[in-house]
Amino acid sequence: MATYPLLFDLPVQKPTTRDIANTVKASGTAGLTDAERRADEARYQEVLCRSALNAVKGMPFNWTLNPYRGCTHGCHYCFARRYHVQFEMNADDEFASFILVKRNFIEVLKRELDRPSWKRELAALGTATDPYQPIEGQYRLTRGTIEALAHARTPAGLVTKGPMVVRDSDVLGELTRAVGCTVYMSVPTVDEEAWRILEPGTAHPLQRLRAVRTLVDAGINAGVLMSPIVPGFSSSRDKLERTMKSIADHGARFVGCNVMHLEQGTRDHFMKFLARGFPSLVPRYQKLYARKYAPDAYRKEVQAMVRVLQRRYGQSKREDAAQTSPPSETAPAPEQVGFAW
Ligand code: SF4
Repeated sequence: MATYPLLFDLPVQKPTTRDIANTVKASGTAGLTDAERRADEARYQEVLCRSALNAVKGMPFNWTLNPYRGCTHGCHYCFARRYHVQFEMNADDEFASFILVKRNFIEVLKRELDRPSWKRELAALGTATDPYQPIEGQYRLTRGTIEALAHARTPAGLVTKGPMVVRDSDVLGELTRAVGCTVYMSVPTVDEEAWRILEPGTAHPLQRLRAVRTLVDAGINAGVLMSPIVPGFSSSRDKLERTMKSIADHGARFVGCNVMHLEQGTRDHFMKFLARGFPSLVPRYQKLYARKYAPDAYRKEVQAMVRVLQRRYGQSKREDAAQTSPPSETAPAPEQVGFAW
């Protein structure tokens, strides 16, 4: 029998996200034997997605795009931690060290954007993971997503803590010129201690602000989200003022702010993180976060302080900057806060 050299890669069938959840349920993450361990100690599992555009309700946008799940930036307050439990993984270490990579994301997205029924509504990138976490350097799924959006004349907003975003200034510029695009760089604080404690896998805040400057210089509508402000860690007037001044010094086009909220897996993780490293703060947090959001009075106090600083440093406000305030139907009733940080 004749034999022939292989001139093409044999297609290797990737699991779906449901397959992953079933495997982890049966045998834990140890059951994901195909996942690749890289130098950053995180493990990356390629998966196939059925859809790329994800419909959402109650947000300032109707569609989200997340080419990855999990995030090696590992911010302790990250609201997306709770989503990892959908894959039967935990919201603690596994959120930051077990990353799902949607290998076919761009191809699926292009098909969806080509549908005659697609109305070219705003799509939000980076709502459940950081689209510029380090692995993007290899897979370039975010870049491919922006290219596909520009081609399909679909406007976008993108939230990130990754200075790698400047790599894509060219395609972000194309999208801006074609139909509009806003980049929200998340820099909750420039305080080094708070940054090290709360955001262990992220780039230095000033590096992020330099990225904002580069994007603005390239003609992209880029600003900063001081979000979330974490009570007791980044909420003092001095830290807020240093952060606002730095943002202004780097030419951000706008600033949004939000106080941290805690729910489900994120709440559990954050309280464990406090108990481990800052046990004296636990009782105060239990009081401040008796519910999902900090009390109205506390949030208003912080936001008023930020507004004063915005005016002082000539920064415009961005009300639609991804969740500047919690939806009114879920916001807690006004109440007196017994302490101020
Ligand atoms: S960078 Fe964003 S998505 Fe990643 S852990 Fe931090 S808050 Fe979460």
